[in-house]
Amino acid sequence: MNTIADKLKKVQDEVAKACARAGRREKSVKVVVVTKTAAIPAIQEVIRQGFVDLGENRVQHLKQVAEDIQTFLADNQDDPNIPDKVHWHMIGHLQRNKVKQTLQLCKMVQSVDTLRLAEELNTQSHKLGIHTDILLQINCSGEPQKYGAPVGAAIHLAEQFTTMGNLRLVGLMTMAPLTMDKNRVRSSFARAREIFEEIHKERIAGAKFKHLSMGMSQDFQIAIEEGATMLRIGSAIFS
Ligand SMILES: *Cc1c(COP(=O)(O)O)cnc(C)c1O
Repeated sequence: MNTIADKLKKVQDEVAKACARAGRREKSVKVVVVTKTAAIPAIQEVIRQGFVDLGENRVQHLKQVAEDIQTFLADNQDDPNIPDKVHWHMIGHLQRNKVKQTLQLCKMVQSVDTLRLAEELNTQSHKLGIHTDILLQINCSGEPQKYGAPVGAAIHLAEQFTTMGNLRLVGLMTMAPLTMDKNRVRSSFARAREIFEEIHKERIAGAKFKHLSMGMSQDFQIAIEEGATMLRIGSAIFS
């Protein structure tokens, strides 16, 4: 039988192999475990195995799960394998009327793809007296996906985001096209990497701009080879 621990180990081994192929250090790639389909005991096991960066794509579900997990952490503080906190990442489309709630739950919002959403995140962060880490989500697939800023708008949006005093633009996020064609997946990741490097080179964002969030269960090895620093992995662990 494949336990959660076995599956995490398998993912971590694959990450290590892909890093070796790409001549990268394993530590340069962080796994965000996407819990959107997972039962609470399975998430608890993930935490017990040392994974503390967790991703959700719907605010309502995030709120419930984050509360359950908070209780679990508080109840198990004498267990040396249980950390005192975990970090939640919002990875799905975010409506402006859910921004405030999201900020109260999340360490990072990865799915920022419009000026209006960034403005609302900035306003609400200011009201809460916090600075929020965000990623600019771009659509590198060349197909009319619903979410993600068009590639041509990425640099300008990045410039605008960096003028907002309560936001920190710390990187880019993208999703590969839904296809079995590995060449198309690879070229969309490579495109994200180019934009990432251009923002670096032009010094558009500050020193904290260092995350390239790309790669899911089906394609994370390719993403690592193309420079991902953050993977978002769900089904490889929970199904
Ligand atoms: C669900 C989801 C993932 C994880 O996908 P898997 O194929 O289950 O690994 C990653 N990123 C986003 C934005 C998602 O919605």
